[in-house]
Amino acid sequence: MRQTLIVGNWKMNGLTADLAWSEAMIAALPDGPGVRAVALCPPFTLISSFAARLPGWISLGGQDCATAVSGAHTGDVSAPMLADLGCRYVIAGHSERRADHGEADAVVRSKAEAALKAGLTPILCVGETLEERESGAAEAVVTAQLEASLPECEPGSLVIAYEPVWAIGTGRTASAADAQAMHRALRSALPGGHGDVTAILYGGSVKPANAAELLAQDDIDGALVGGASLKAEDFAAIIAAGQ
Ligand code: PEP
Repeated sequence: MRQTLIVGNWKMNGLTADLAWSEAMIAALPDGPGVRAVALCPPFTLISSFAARLPGWISLGGQDCATAVSGAHTGDVSAPMLADLGCRYVIAGHSERRADHGEADAVVRSKAEAALKAGLTPILCVGETLEERESGAAEAVVTAQLEASLPECEPGSLVIAYEPVWAIGTGRTASAADAQAMHRALRSALPGGHGDVTAILYGGSVKPANAAELLAQDDIDGALVGGASLKAEDFAAIIAAGQ
């Protein structure tokens, strides 16, 4: 059985005043997250403060890491630095990094390898653009991205996130049936031994109103949540959805 994992991605949002999210989450889910595992990826600047403040049932993650361990890379943050702060996860290859920073599959793969070496679990993101979906190429594009960015690793040591680019931050969500079909295709594309044990999250405008239906799909093992994770009550409702 794969455990369901719900991950919040704050992107470039959050100031110290927003650390009170932690107490709001505890108030919204006083009995904890039920059967689901939960993680929060705040901006780098808030990781330490959240580490001192979050309840034990919320793990921390970074939103990105460098391919290098240390050295002359001004502005970058390495995987060992994230591990040192208590992170368990790091997102690799989010479509906003692929688009804004030109991160190609080979770079994403190196980042995932760096994360694994530091003892972190990479959350490896893949997803197609609207043009690719409308031209019928979505499955081929996404499975090719997966194959080119997947590091060699033990089964179960990473998480995949399917995030259709056209659904991120747009309010448009893939239908549960379309998302399930893509998750099934991704699971089949994973190398031997990985398919049954790798959690595949869905991301793209997940909110309290659509979470239960998405999370009920056989091959959807959780959610990567952007905008709705900023509000503790909405994130809590997604964690609780359908349980
Ligand atoms: C994301 O940040 O990965 C994401 C899916 O964002 P949103 O939920 O806002 O679409």
